[in-house]
Amino acid sequence: EPLKAETRKFNFYYGDNHALKNVDLPVAERMVTALIGPSGCGKSTLLRSFNRMHDLYPGNRYEGEIRLYPDDVNLVSPAVDPIEIRMRISMVFQKPNPFPKTIFENVAYGLMVRGEKRRSVLEEKVEEALRGAALWEEVKDRLDDLAFNLSGGQQQRLCIARALAADPEIILFDEPTSALDPIATASIEELIAEIKEKVTILIVTHNMQQAARISDYTAFMYLGELVEFGRTDELFVRP
Ligand code: ADP
Ligand code: ADP
Repeated sequence: EPLKAETRKFNFYYGDNHALKNVDLPVAERMVTALIGPSGCGKSTLLRSFNRMHDLYPGNRYEGEIRLYPDDVNLVSPAVDPIEIRMRISMVFQKPNPFPKTIFENVAYGLMVRGEKRRSVLEEKVEEALRGAALWEEVKDRLDDLAFNLSGGQQQRLCIARALAADPEIILFDEPTSALDPIATASIEELIAEIKEKVTILIVTHNMQQAARISDYTAFMYLGELVEFGRTDELFVRP
């Protein structure tokens, strides 16, 4: 498959803490790439580098490159505006984090920030994103309810709908199911399999079985290095 992105000799420092060391990670387009490895090995740091979340903290430093294709920009170049990147690369966190707003407003937020005011367009896009996140049927009659009234699994699907509404090229998932029960976890895994038809996915998980179930490629990290990379069906014997 063509590459959607790749890191090249990528290093990351939290001050003196050299958290990522010469990482070369290919990210295949419209595939799921899983990052796995023990706690503290750098998975989250690597994921957050893709949308420049670290920029907010002084003392953090990048070395090397993260190329995004097809335009071939270096995501960590100081010349590249992180706001632009975040319009192309969305993130879904471990704990569902809806805004203290209605279900509708949560999904429409990104569009409204970009200046979309037409109610009919917002309604159409919100429905499309909620359908994409397999949540529409459950919430279509309560779009003006506060998002906090949803269950944990529904809130996570809402966060995925919010990410989808921005029409991103990549979605970054940071342990998206570790705060969820097994049924909600299964529904998120199913959703990821559907979303990858359209969007490239990079997912951090500490759960090897989950990586084996949902990913096309797996990267094993250890002490800040990428120590093994390959097709998931060649690295794991599937159950
Ligand atoms: P998790 O494993 O759930 O990501 P952590 O305990 O690793 O939780 O990190 C919690 C928060 O503390 C994160 O925001 C992380 O960036 C920050 N953090 C982790 N390690 C350090 C450290 N050595 N110094 C400062 N902040 C850290
Ligand atoms: P993982 O996601 O694999 O658990 P992390 O990327 O959170 O690992 O952490 C990688 C390394 O960076 C660890 O040594 C951790 O303590 C350190 N670290 C994480 N966040 C921070 C932070 N905000 N400040 C300083 N060190 C951090």
